[in-house]
Amino acid sequence: YRAKHLASGYVLYDPKYNLHSAEKLGLMAELRQAIDQNQLVLYFQPKLALKTGRVVGFEALVRWQHPRLGLLGPNDFILAAEQTGLIGSLTRWVMESALTFIQQAALQDDPLRVSVNLSARSLHDANLLEMINEAISASGTKPELLMLEITETAIVLDPVRAKKTLDALSQRGIKLSIDDFGTGYTSLASIKDLPINEIKIDRSFIKNMLTDNKDFMIIRSIIELGHNLGLTTVAEGIEDKDAMHTLLTLGCDEVQGYLICRPKASDQILLWLSENN
Ligand code: C2E
Ligand code: MG
Ligand code: MG
Ligand code: MG
Repeated sequence: YRAKHLASGYVLYDPKYNLHSAEKLGLMAELRQAIDQNQLVLYFQPKLALKTGRVVGFEALVRWQHPRLGLLGPNDFILAAEQTGLIGSLTRWVMESALTFIQQAALQDDPLRVSVNLSARSLHDANLLEMINEAISASGTKPELLMLEITETAIVLDPVRAKKTLDALSQRGIKLSIDDFGTGYTSLASIKDLPINEIKIDRSFIKNMLTDNKDFMIIRSIIELGHNLGLTTVAEGIEDKDAMHTLLTLGCDEVQGYLICRPKASDQILLWLSENN
């Protein structure tokens, strides 16, 4: 660990390490202000259609530009935001920013989609649909360009309620994705009655797919089952060319990862897009 002790008493780690839980608690007192003072920053990572190499959309990933600690990742504050009830404001900010961004990006030829991650709390928030409708109207974009990424864990928490919410979102034209697929407690069988459009195979399988035959088999099975159920399959966390090529031969539809592009702030990503698409 390359830990750096700051005057404030916080310990700052190399960004790939997470803050300790006590530090996260300390941060929570500041999050309200952070939202109000525009310290949150939305990063975007492109999603590529594997066969054509074309960008089909972006995943929005929230960051916190902390005045003392620097750029913090969501693992440092999302959970605590859920526990302190600030997740509602955070999700609203992310939604508005993501839709505004995609409205700008839509000036390109093909309509590009933006994917927003929803925490369990936000999925089960009674005001979710109303909040999304407001954000869609305010941005002037179409509901079809919004995709929501939901984890299996969030669904399993209250499957009956989740189905109601997902049905309503789907009827509104919003697209739905199961994030980190394969790590939760659902199976494709238990999501077959949900209006899902896409599954994202978790990075943990992708990471070792070329060295661990079991991971390879799991990926192959998820892609095959996904296609049999009419779902788009996406692989997250692609870091090398061989993995990307193997996913192409397996028929995986879309990919995302550092190999293609790291998550970047909106102006940087629009620049990347103009140079790479
Ligand atoms: P996720 O939705 O599964 O997002 C993928 C994570 O993998 C992101 O981390 C992304 O930066 C990272 N990633 C992308 N490509 C690669 C790669 O090639 N290699 C490696 N090692 N990592 C890669 P990040 O941005 O730190 O986000 C972590 C998690 O935080 C997300 O996982 C998501 O669950 C959550 N999250 C992010 N933004 C939001 C948000 O706005 N709201 C909520 N509720 N959760 C969010
Ligand atoms: Mg995601
Ligand atoms: Mg994911
Ligand atoms: Mg993940």
